[in-house]
Amino acid sequence: MPSSPDPTARPLDALLRDELAAIDRAALRRTLRPMRRREGATLLVDDREVVDFASNDYLGLAADPRLAGALRDALDDVGVGAGAARLVTGDDPLHERLESAIAALKGTERALLFASGFAANVGVLPALAGRDDAIYSDALNHASIVDGCRLSRAAVRVFPHGDVDALDAMLRADAGGARFRRRWIVVEGVYSMDGDLFPLDRLVSLARAHGAYTVVDDAHASGVLGTGGRGTASHFGVDGAIDVTVGTLGKAFGTAGAFVAGSAALCDLLLHRARSFVFTTGSPPAVAAATLRALAIARDEPWRRDRLRDNARRLRAGLAALGRPAPGEADGHVVPVLLGDPTRTVDAGARLLADGFAVGAIRPPSVPPGSARLRLSVSAAHTPEQIDALLEALAAVPGVPNADPVPA
Ligand SMILES: *Cc1c(COP(=O)(O)O)cnc(C)c1O
Repeated sequence: MPSSPDPTARPLDALLRDELAAIDRAALRRTLRPMRRREGATLLVDDREVVDFASNDYLGLAADPRLAGALRDALDDVGVGAGAARLVTGDDPLHERLESAIAALKGTERALLFASGFAANVGVLPALAGRDDAIYSDALNHASIVDGCRLSRAAVRVFPHGDVDALDAMLRADAGGARFRRRWIVVEGVYSMDGDLFPLDRLVSLARAHGAYTVVDDAHASGVLGTGGRGTASHFGVDGAIDVTVGTLGKAFGTAGAFVAGSAALCDLLLHRARSFVFTTGSPPAVAAATLRALAIARDEPWRRDRLRDNARRLRAGLAALGRPAPGEADGHVVPVLLGDPTRTVDAGARLLADGFAVGAIRPPSVPPGSARLRLSVSAAHTPEQIDALLEALAAVPGVPNADPVPA
């Protein structure tokens, strides 16, 4: 046993402080900031009410008292914790009911719950793809997809964002079934930081032509796009043609958790193989009761989707008038304002917060270097007056109005 300390070793905290200093120098320092959600798309920040244009509460359900009521009622019945993994003793009938309701919404044979969208992606990809496979992954895919690809040990081919022709070329270059056992294409339905859609109709025909399987992360479209909020595949008329769909419950549905929807065989295999499903405690069953309520409200109140689109159109038209047209659909609910420089972006976010608006000030690594941006997200809970007030505030933020616009 060595008895004297290594004289060249530095204390861990000194190393960590160096790394933090480098983060500071790159203007990429982040901090937590407690705030509380209120009804009406508002947040209490330091006892001040601000309008929330930063969350993913697209249907305005997160603070809906009916969800809280469903949660409370269920808590009296079932208590708080699931107590164990679903496969042990943590499988409550409420989990099963929620999975059936999700499968019905998505039009699939079955659905399987995960603790979060992050857990779903890092579980699903390694459960399906292995060493002898290839995964074709969009360059702007979420961090959890990137990590899922890595954990799978498959060959990962990253194609330029949204570029179906480039993807086709890669699939051709790798053709000859002997090269890979199976090939998987993974994309998002609606891109979380850009708000644009992946053309799933083209994806489906390409995958068919090349004998590849499709995985779509529909985190930002579940409950929002397509017939009755079925998602991006329904929007593109290819419902039922996607092999694996991942969706979250913490965004449009306003609660927490996530799901995979697909065939009975898919969900059955995931129940054996997805490590983030097998080796984790079941989610609190009462949350499933709240989510069931959210699904029912999303189904019975289609005006929420209409209002969301109207609000998005209003915000996007106003930005175009400022010379900052946002990429994506004219009624897309995720609205980026590209500023490029991280310091300018953080300053713009701080100024808007002082004016009473919470917006996302997004920097690398959430987006590629040089593409820092404000991320504005619209909700059905916003009023037209709140959107007009945000536009007025944006018009006064240095660097936002653009006299010399480039086409989006
Ligand atoms: C938010 C998000 C996730 C993670 O979902 P959580 O339920 O918040 O863990 C996964 N994928 C995409 C595309 C997302 O936007």
